[in-house]
Amino acid sequence: MNTASTIPERAIGAFHPPRRILLGPGPSDLHPRVMAALGQTVVGYMDPVFVGMMEELKALLRYAFQTGNPLTFPLSGPGSVGMETCFVNLVEPGDKVVVCRNGVFGGRMIENVERCGGKAVVVEDEWGKPVDPQKLEDALKAHPDARIVAFVHAETSTGAQSDAATLCAIARRANCLSIVDTVTSLGGSPVKVDEWGADAVYSGSQKCLSCTPGLSPATFSAAAIDKVRARRSKVQSWFMDLTLVLDYWGATQRTYHHTAPGNSLYGLHEALRLLAEEGLENAWARHRRHHAALKAGLEALGLAFVVPEEARLPQMNAVRIPDGVDDLTVRRTLLQEHAVEIGAGLGPLAGKIWRFGLMGHSCREENVMAALGALEQVLPAVGHAVAPGSATAAAHRAYAEQHLIAAG
Ligand SMILES: *Cc1c(COP(=O)(O)O)cnc(C)c1O
Repeated sequence: MNTASTIPERAIGAFHPPRRILLGPGPSDLHPRVMAALGQTVVGYMDPVFVGMMEELKALLRYAFQTGNPLTFPLSGPGSVGMETCFVNLVEPGDKVVVCRNGVFGGRMIENVERCGGKAVVVEDEWGKPVDPQKLEDALKAHPDARIVAFVHAETSTGAQSDAATLCAIARRANCLSIVDTVTSLGGSPVKVDEWGADAVYSGSQKCLSCTPGLSPATFSAAAIDKVRARRSKVQSWFMDLTLVLDYWGATQRTYHHTAPGNSLYGLHEALRLLAEEGLENAWARHRRHHAALKAGLEALGLAFVVPEEARLPQMNAVRIPDGVDDLTVRRTLLQEHAVEIGAGLGPLAGKIWRFGLMGHSCREENVMAALGALEQVLPAVGHAVAPGSATAAAHRAYAEQHLIAAG
């Protein structure tokens, strides 16, 4: 009998995960250059060489976020830590925060406001629809004492994109700071922090940036920092208190705060270098191009999109599961027999939709074709008749049309 204190009788082999094609809501595939960067030797978090890399990371992130904010850096923790850091620093007990909810992540923002002792005023939109700016205007008129507006730019649970520029402008006119979730949008579709005038913006490393999970790039405006510095009470989280984190990431004279996840940061540095080499506009165009092919294929299979066309995110394609088709059987077969991972529906959409992510390095033609080819094989076996070759042919046609457009 094994107890915790004895060596297992049978040797435990090294863990070698199988190769997958990651087409879910993140994590996404890693570029080989990012994989190589992750495996480099460990150096101390105060080593001048490491500190030099941190400065480059900040510059690369300013480019990705399109901002001049000096306070732009990766938080140690997944996207959820980015979200929580924004709320625990900006929301003081008693603050009124207008939260726009049109999916899972807006709901988490409400939870964050309440745990900070704030009062959430909720602007509801249907799941699958973008946030309605008029509803935000109305909520701010009804609550002139609101201090903050929070919304999700790219709602990963449905694939809906909201108009961040308009929502931030409405917040500013009402003298509110904005907290914006760009976890799924950064690197995949336009995020323009300075143009939007957004105040506290966070993202994640494992979605369109295609790094390992566990880092949350974030950026803060001068107004956001002023609000943190003017707090009447201490931030209740020691780890996330920006005024303390800044002694490590912000200052010229660095002091220890926590041990930075060095190798993950090497990976992010390389992932951001890849993004800069490609260029943001080209990366956004690539996401649109492969989305168009995937969309043509999914529609040829008779799968209907959840989100109206004008609000669709290219990197997150949510479609309704046809009546009578078993969600889990299809997803399990795709994974086990075709090594394709796709996303399930969350909350009220569980069992009702599939989510096809095309994020970062996952967003490539071979992956679009692999997913569509696998679906052509799997769907007939679960009672949804499709002609072999129909989806892949539609995708090829969509790619061909784009070549024709490009050729003028
Ligand atoms: C994935 C995601 C998060 C949470 O990120 P984690 O890295 O899973 O903690 C937050 N917001 C949105 C919109 C996301 O897609």
